[in-house]
Amino acid sequence: MGGGVKYIFVTGGVLSSLGKGIVTASLGLLFKLRGFSVGAVKIDPYINVDAGTMNPYMHGEVYVTEDGGETDLDLGHYERFLHTTLSRKHNITTGQVYKAVIERERRGDYLGQTVQIIPHITDEIKSRIRSVARETGVDILLVEIGGTVGDIEGLPFLEAARQMRLEEGVENTFFVHVALAPVLSTTGEQKTKPVQHSVNELRRIGIQPDAIVVRTSRPLEEEARRKIALFATLPPEAVVSDHDVETIYMVPLLLEEQGLPSYISRHLRLPERRPDLGPWRDFVERLLNASKRVEVAMIGKYTKLHDSYLSIIEALNHAGARLGVKPVLRWVEATDIEEGRVSVDDALEGVDAAIVLPGFGARGVEGKIEAIRYLRENKVPMLGICFGMQLAVVEYARNVAGLEGAHTTEVNPKTPHPVIDLLPEQRGVRELGGTMRLGARPVRLVEGTLAHRLYGVTLVYERHRHRYEVNRDYYDVLQEAGLVFSGWSPEGLVEVIELPRREHPFYLATQFHPEFKSRPLDPRPPFLGLLAAASGSEPLGV
Ligand code: GLN
Repeated sequence: MGGGVKYIFVTGGVLSSLGKGIVTASLGLLFKLRGFSVGAVKIDPYINVDAGTMNPYMHGEVYVTEDGGETDLDLGHYERFLHTTLSRKHNITTGQVYKAVIERERRGDYLGQTVQIIPHITDEIKSRIRSVARETGVDILLVEIGGTVGDIEGLPFLEAARQMRLEEGVENTFFVHVALAPVLSTTGEQKTKPVQHSVNELRRIGIQPDAIVVRTSRPLEEEARRKIALFATLPPEAVVSDHDVETIYMVPLLLEEQGLPSYISRHLRLPERRPDLGPWRDFVERLLNASKRVEVAMIGKYTKLHDSYLSIIEALNHAGARLGVKPVLRWVEATDIEEGRVSVDDALEGVDAAIVLPGFGARGVEGKIEAIRYLRENKVPMLGICFGMQLAVVEYARNVAGLEGAHTTEVNPKTPHPVIDLLPEQRGVRELGGTMRLGARPVRLVEGTLAHRLYGVTLVYERHRHRYEVNRDYYDVLQEAGLVFSGWSPEGLVEVIELPRREHPFYLATQFHPEFKSRPLDPRPPFLGLLAAASGSEPLGV
């Protein structure tokens, strides 16, 4: 069965968006720093097979794993906190579970049986969780169950977790419940009733939480802690405060200070070890003390939901902490420029750097192209990512190479100059889920270029998520016009473009997404380069 694996389940109560993902990632880090090998699984009870077809405007960014999974953004938190690489299997959805069971039913594997949520769906859920543990060989697997206890769609997953306690044994399973204690604005009181109700909801389906992490705006009062503990039949030390802090990276320190990992260790019969939190603390210190402000324009079309670009924001924070620079974001909505609500000059006036963000579709595209022109002509350090890179090519084609009406065929299939066009392998593709060019691919960097100087090596693996690419027919004309292609895929696709330093202090754009591999203690070179150029520090690299 479990093969000695310890499972820590994380559930949520009262509301969603409580930061369960951060709590899960933080616990993972604290056990990793105790010398255990740790993995983390996110369960999303929606029917989508994966996050790939969901609008980032509603659900936040689609996080891409090394093996090309299009997953929930919590996997990004896990990878960043754990400094690890997870696979698509670490994100389990209702869609995947039902799809597998229904396919099996059609094959006749359940011949004669009535196929039901219990046991067939719950068996499939348990088998997926266990197979991640087995295949990755971890000591501890955290399993975060998305949504809120009491949601209809979460029930089969909670039921599977309940059964796992029975099958794996109490000493091999731990249930952490994360719930909200609101502070009333009128009286300033910290209210525990919603936490109590959500614990009740959990118990109703047969799960007694082993610890409660209380999300609240200010430190949990002793009185509130005692009340929650008593009600939940837990010792007060099993109730911890997860109050607002300046950065999510402080949450592991908060949980450690209150002894939660030691408490869990005792329950799970794990040897008590002291974690070395030194490097993490240093990182948090540097992040909080970074004093040199650098204003970074974030140019995109999902700018009202910042979670749409979560990994990019975090990548900037990691690079900023390394350089002692505090990135201050100025959100620039490309559609506002496009529709004339603000001029590009006003939108970008005075920024120290800019990121032209990834995206899809026509809306806002002309606004982005105008912004890129401004950044190029005014020599503002600029990083373009994926769609941002493709539109930089369009801008250069139109305004420098003289290719009037140049465009990407994603936006204008009839353009006279399709400088960005569908990847050949995409031509026959009809289904939209999981069919882009996805995941980590090798990129060769051309010696002596900015890209090479930044990475310091000539071969890197970066993650992708796109259908379009620079059109080979335009390689010559674009290069003759001065655009430098500084990174290539083995198939000969353009992966990085840049301008020589004599023309621009920092103009770099990548077809890949460097943000997915940025880690707190290992910032990704394009973000370091951008912030270094913007803050006037010496550019990095060889
Ligand atoms: N829409 C572009 C493509 O499909 C870019 C995608 C992206 O920015 N992730 O190629």
